[in-house]
Amino acid sequence: PSRAVFYLNNMVNESLALIRDQKFFMNVNVVKNFDDHQILVNADKNQLCQVLINLLINAFDAMEHKGTLTLTTYRDLENHRAFIEVSDTGCGIPEQNLSKIFDPFFTTKELGKGTGLGLSMAYGIMKENQGSISIKSTGPEGTTILLELPEEPVTD
Ligand code: ADP
Ligand code: MG
Repeated sequence: PSRAVFYLNNMVNESLALIRDQKFFMNVNVVKNFDDHQILVNADKNQLCQVLINLLINAFDAMEHKGTLTLTTYRDLENHRAFIEVSDTGCGIPEQNLSKIFDPFFTTKELGKGTGLGLSMAYGIMKENQGSISIKSTGPEGTTILLELPEEPVTD
């Protein structure tokens, strides 16, 4: 990865800006629930944008392009970790698929609509950046994906 220090909220906003004019976005209500504190991380910003865009598209697909997308950022001060949550009001992930969704080429989408590579790439990218990706919750009310990264200490 090509690392740099940047503000987490800016990266989330930039990822959103890259896709929010697409037509599949039209009927999706976007809620930003950002930490007031400007969280700094040291990571590969382009790679993280790629991860986030993949998660956003998965969320839209799950909601069939209508519903509410909530983007949350926060940090764990004590353990110096930074978090992004991507929450949708979509169909949820069936229990029997939970162990497969990070596998390369696993997809439930029809031919041409999905490659099944998004989450497996996201898994690798988060690991390379000393972070992680996990399913925080999923069910008929929707899904919340959690990204976690080290927080860059502020030096003055
Ligand atoms: P793709 O999007 O190309 O299918 P991914 O690796 O991004 O591949 O996702 C794999 C599978 O995980 C999807 O096909 C879908 O079944 C499931 N999935 C991922 N994100 C969500 C979500 N937010 N809600 C419901 N199912 C999801
Ligand atoms: Mg995907």
